Amino acid sequence: MDNLARPNSPAARDTAFHVHPQTNLHAHERVGPMIVTHGEGVRVYDDEGRGYIDAMAGLWSAALGFSNQRLADAAYRQLCALPYASTFAHRSNPAVIELATRLTAIAPAPLTRALFSNSGSEAVDTAMKLVWYYWNAHGRPEKKKIIARANAYHGSTIAAASLTGLDRMQRDFDLPIERVVRAPCPHYAKFAKPGETEHAFSARMAEELDTLIRAEGADTVGAFFAEPLQGAGGVIIPPAGYFEAIQPVLEAHDVLLIADEVICGFGRTGSMWGSETYGLRPDMATCAKALSASYIPIAATLMSERVYEALRDQSGKLGQFGHGYTYSGHPVAAAVAVETLKIYEEIDIAARAAAAAPLLQEGLRSLASHACVFEVRGVGLIAGVELDPERAAGLGPAVADAAKARGVLVRALGDTLAFCPPIIIGEDDLRTVTTVFAEALDAAAAQS
Ligand code: PLP
Repeated sequence: MDNLARPNSPAARDTAFHVHPQTNLHAHERVGPMIVTHGEGVRVYDDEGRGYIDAMAGLWSAALGFSNQRLADAAYRQLCALPYASTFAHRSNPAVIELATRLTAIAPAPLTRALFSNSGSEAVDTAMKLVWYYWNAHGRPEKKKIIARANAYHGSTIAAASLTGLDRMQRDFDLPIERVVRAPCPHYAKFAKPGETEHAFSARMAEELDTLIRAEGADTVGAFFAEPLQGAGGVIIPPAGYFEAIQPVLEAHDVLLIADEVICGFGRTGSMWGSETYGLRPDMATCAKALSASYIPIAATLMSERVYEALRDQSGKLGQFGHGYTYSGHPVAAAVAVETLKIYEEIDIAARAAAAAPLLQEGLRSLASHACVFEVRGVGLIAGVELDPERAAGLGPAVADAAKARGVLVRALGDTLAFCPPIIIGEDDLRTVTTVFAEALDAAAAQS
């Protein structure tokens, strides 16, 4: 790490001028930044030349690693041909047309149309606005409450942070906004009753959802937002039968289902979408992150024909669909996303994640009996190891630091250590990730 004490060093200037998101700002002034200067394959390098396997693919996102020449070339070509074009007022560009065509061709059924934005939060925010617009179009202006779950993560904008079910994202920001209703988190290992099977737990979750919707008034509930698996809330895998049980409840009360695929999309769970892995039939879905392998910001809100027709009819009535960002369908971002989708098709990204999965999942599961471990969970190339709340409380960041000192970056979500490596990771590197993690766990436990 660059010397924080040296005036004008990059680290000193970082602490002087740069406000870091999702960081303890007070601690940052003391510890300074980790300055990442370049990447190669699944590794990133700091400013002192140390290399790390990034077992979080940046933020659950850099599926193709950090040095894909085709993506850089696609950006450069598009920058030379047409660096910017608006998509407002009937304008389009070849890159966004190609992207919409490719993305809707692989979208989870029954989604057929794509509306572009720049980040997962914007895609979620957009979906929330579309829910409201949809119900207004249907002449049901009272059907506006949105249900989201405890431990959900949907982003940082006012709407997305309101849907997020994590205290740290809301406290002192005066969130959540009104009309957001909280449903329970379906974490079986934590919240099942003694002797309750996974299916029975899922059935109870569905009953509780039904009770919640009735208590709020089904006529006032517009949509249910769910990540197929809950990512930043702790890599919480839905219990067996969960989405099968809750979808009939949503259908019975005419509540739209919005799948937040920002982490799960593009092969992460071993299928193209988390919706496929867990049997969701969403009315809308959000995607971002791996849409461009994180080489450039771009996101999309995907919708069914039914939703699209409501937008079309309402905008016809009002004279305009009054929504959009300067960078909706930005040609450079779209060109990079098109190239990303081509690569995913060529290498069969979902099959690749599925093939690599056993090495990660079994490697981590061998730690399930470790004294410090409460639960190991995961699917495809995403996993979480939750530490024991009695024996290892508060140890998460120390485990992540110990792994970092050994050349592997994992993320401490409190006391759950998260893994989400680039999907192109090779077997040797994947073995290194689990081996180093085991050492880090022992080292942190020994020091506590
Ligand atoms: N939705 C989910 C499921 C996410 O995991 C995230 C970010 O991690 C978001 C939305 C927000 O995405 P962004 O940080 O690009 O705004």
